[in-house]
Amino acid sequence: MTVAGGMLRLHTRGHGDIVDLTEGVQRIVATSGVDRGLVTVFAVGATVGVTTMEYEPGGVADLQRLLDRLIPATGDYEHNRLNHDTNSHAHQRAAIIGPSETVPVLEGRPTLGTWQQIVLIDFDDRPRERTVSVQVLS
Ligand code: ZN
Repeated sequence: MTVAGGMLRLHTRGHGDIVDLTEGVQRIVATSGVDRGLVTVFAVGATVGVTTMEYEPGGVADLQRLLDRLIPATGDYEHNRLNHDTNSHAHQRAAIIGPSETVPVLEGRPTLGTWQQIVLIDFDDRPRERTVSVQVLS
């Protein structure tokens, strides 16, 4: 097995900001020279998630609203009480979405659908600098 890859570094606004990573992932896969394999995309941090979705304003707003309803920003959270913190909702949302996705690579490209983008969601309650590890395995 061989592994090649790189890092994506980005600035987010926090508060459920959704950032399209697809172009950066495609660039790293192309640079790796891997024709057939897997690419894993992993966001570093306990208040950030990675998933796939149709990245367009309606879908982005709907996903943000869904997560607001499921896991409200304010509530009776032990993490906030015990740690004098304010972002327990961000930790819970990140745990549900998960920190990574793995996508098959065929003919040197991630096999995503036409309307399927790889996105990072930053759940923290402030702007953040984020690092995403992109590893291509073959
Ligand atoms: Zn916290």
